[in-house]
Amino acid sequence: MSKYESINPYTNQLIKTYPNATDDEIEDALTAGHKLYFTWRKQEPSMRAKQLADIAKSFKKHREDMAKMMTMEMGKLYKESLEEVDLCINICEYYAKNGVKMLEPTHLDTELGDAYYLKQATGIIMACEPWNFPLYQVIRVFAPNFIVGNPVILKHAHNVPGSAQLAQKIIEEAGAPQASLTNLFLSYDQIDKVISDMRVQGVALTGSERGGASVAQAAGKNIKKSTMELGGNDPFIILDDADTNTLRSVLSDARTYNGGQVCTSSKRIIVVESRYEEVLHELQNVFSNLKPGDPMDEATTLPPMNSQKAADKLKAQVDKGVEAGAKVFYQFPEIEHDGAFFRPMILTDISENNPLFDEELFGPVAQVYKVKDEQAAIDLANNSSFGLGSSIITSDVKHGQQLASEIETGMTVINGRWITAPELPFGGVKKSGYGRELSELGLMAFVNEHLVIDVSQNKK
Ligand code: NAP
Repeated sequence: MSKYESINPYTNQLIKTYPNATDDEIEDALTAGHKLYFTWRKQEPSMRAKQLADIAKSFKKHREDMAKMMTMEMGKLYKESLEEVDLCINICEYYAKNGVKMLEPTHLDTELGDAYYLKQATGIIMACEPWNFPLYQVIRVFAPNFIVGNPVILKHAHNVPGSAQLAQKIIEEAGAPQASLTNLFLSYDQIDKVISDMRVQGVALTGSERGGASVAQAAGKNIKKSTMELGGNDPFIILDDADTNTLRSVLSDARTYNGGQVCTSSKRIIVVESRYEEVLHELQNVFSNLKPGDPMDEATTLPPMNSQKAADKLKAQVDKGVEAGAKVFYQFPEIEHDGAFFRPMILTDISENNPLFDEELFGPVAQVYKVKDEQAAIDLANNSSFGLGSSIITSDVKHGQQLASEIETGMTVINGRWITAPELPFGGVKKSGYGRELSELGLMAFVNEHLVIDVSQNKK
């Protein structure tokens, strides 16, 4: 892990360094979180639902501050930062409105007595989050667990410490009890220590395979429940009958939103022969019209990557792939700027033994594959270690739904690119992880489904 530092990737200037958490700070967070868990166990979730609605209002009030901080720390377009804050407001409102009902006991049909299960809080949840959506990733875990009554300790990515602190401040300003969300600047060793603490009952990580494997191992060793939202190499399948206007509109940002740094970005564009040339030229049109510049500027459509290190890593990955035979169909012209810019590119001819074939490229690189037919498209889509999201572009929606059931991913969008909304479950299979965030499934991730049965009602 690097140091906790805010470095503006547009200027590559260091803005601020943050010291790591001390042992005393960690102990204080665990003590306060545990105390709050016991307080919350005695309260109705409806009380927290009101507070969560106030948290949504607090984010509305600080919408611009939060968005500016995120853009400054990881370089995303300011307008996309504003969209991210709005999405988080929706998530808080969704759980404020629906969470209490979701937590009602579920009756069970049995002849053995009067039976139901409660959905109870379990304790402190540790959330390890990535920089790519600095607020959304936090709120996906925080909002449902707040309603459930599980306090959250946050370990955010090293490059968005200011966003982590600001999120906690906005939540506290809304009147949420202290320890509802506690941000700690932890080292990897300290993460293991927190996970092994008896007061912590679950771990949610969103990030890469590398981070996921390490944190899941610590959770497993300590018998703690975990959810892993990891990387993706999402197939975007274009069938013969794809509607041209739909295709054009979806391709316009399927690979470039958030600078291409989206886990569910359409990374592998899989096209049937008859549409291959058209898709390549459509993508070239999108990529070549991007406007690099200051992410705060409304006219900019190509922001820097989140850090110079990330831009260098992506370049090294691509260079290796090209050395192994991938062809560069298009590359954006040189960008004369000191920021962490990466020249977007379109790659073709990626063979199965190319290192890129089964690697996630986390930035504006489209990998385009030509296949002979629909079956070959499905086979290629499933020939991956990852299984997060997928897309199918077709005019025959019923057929698209049938094909969706044949794809080994956690999510499929028909006639669109990736999507997220509070009411839709988010997550994957294979090396993309396990568990779901958002929707009712996300709310249940860390509850105790506590069976209660009165056997004096035994009807047998
Ligand atoms: P990352 O390096 O795995 O980091 C994610 C978080 O885990 C950070 O807080 C990081 O801390 C921490 N971490 C990393 N290695 C660790 C280790 N060995 N032990 C303990 N903690 C560790 O991921 P990233 O590169 O920041 O994020 C991009 C990845 O996230 C991509 O693969 C993307 O696809 C994935 N992602 C998945 C989803 C999803 O919902 N499935 C959503 C968004 C992003 P430091 O920053 O201090 O290293």
